[in-house]
Amino acid sequence: MNVTRRSFLKYCVASASALGLTPASLKRLEAALGSGRAPTFLWLHGSGCQGDSISFLNLFADIPPVGQLTVGDVLLDHVNLAYHTVLMSAAGPAAVAVAKQARQQGGYVLVLEGGVPTAFEGNACQVWSDERGAVTYRQAIEDLVHEASVVLSVGTCACYGGVVASGPDPFEGNPTDVVSATSFVRQLSPGKAVMNIPGCPSHPAWIAWAVVQLILENTPALDGHLRPVELFGSKDVDPHGMNIHENCPRHPSRPGSPGLASRFGQDFHCLESLGCRGPNTYADCPLRKWNNGELGPANWCVDSNGMCIGCVEPDFPGGDFYA
Ligand code: SF4
Ligand code: SF4
Repeated sequence: MNVTRRSFLKYCVASASALGLTPASLKRLEAALGSGRAPTFLWLHGSGCQGDSISFLNLFADIPPVGQLTVGDVLLDHVNLAYHTVLMSAAGPAAVAVAKQARQQGGYVLVLEGGVPTAFEGNACQVWSDERGAVTYRQAIEDLVHEASVVLSVGTCACYGGVVASGPDPFEGNPTDVVSATSFVRQLSPGKAVMNIPGCPSHPAWIAWAVVQLILENTPALDGHLRPVELFGSKDVDPHGMNIHENCPRHPSRPGSPGLASRFGQDFHCLESLGCRGPNTYADCPLRKWNNGELGPANWCVDSNGMCIGCVEPDFPGGDFYA
């Protein structure tokens, strides 16, 4: 399907509140896309499940007369996505050559999805081959980080280590010594601009929000964990802001609350008694919801009678989920 720049803008208009776009910033977005100045994105995958890419690919809008517009359409047609293992059609040396060409030009957005294995000289995760032989994720970041204008870490593994940095015993580390991509970048290039978009996986609209901010060359306010305040509003900025518990429709203090759950499967009951981490988690999930909440039928962890497992927090997964 051929999606025009106008179609993308219609998508942004329809999703303006989800993307945090004001009428003025929509105009700026149109100008940026029209000028051909939209940044190049290099998206690398490290130690993780690629769930953030899959989550992002599920973002779509069925907006007449645009029709279904996938994120693949958006990125491939409107943003210069020079390298992405899942989306790019090129493979092998041709794909690597595109990434290296972008490096020569510099000024790109380096998107990192997945943690960085540091044991075995990084060989637990190899991303491509070149004249040096197999190139590890770690080496690729070392090669690409310095010429990047900004690093976008997507998913909790990249932001904080997440599941792949946890071990059989949380206090004994993990077998491949995975560290977060963000901390690795900070070691290599302490002054580099880094934005974390955590989540296991990240909400697709959070990633789209970040992409739009970068196209607009905005510098969003970040909290102490490098998360955008607008999406995560953490307690060091605002004690109530985006706290899951405060915004949860099942909060026991709400009128008509049936109180705490005694077992799973009890609709409308608060799940704190079963281990819900909502009180210590900061994200806009209860407001935004998942599955295109701003555009169609939606749900989120608590409303589906699961509970919040704190997937956006730096200490995730951090021990047992259930009380
Ligand atoms: S279900 Fe979780 S987030 Fe919702 S009110 Fe209870 S503890 Fe808070
Ligand atoms: S509700 Fe909690 S576990 Fe669910 S996506 Fe949001 S932060 Fe993650």
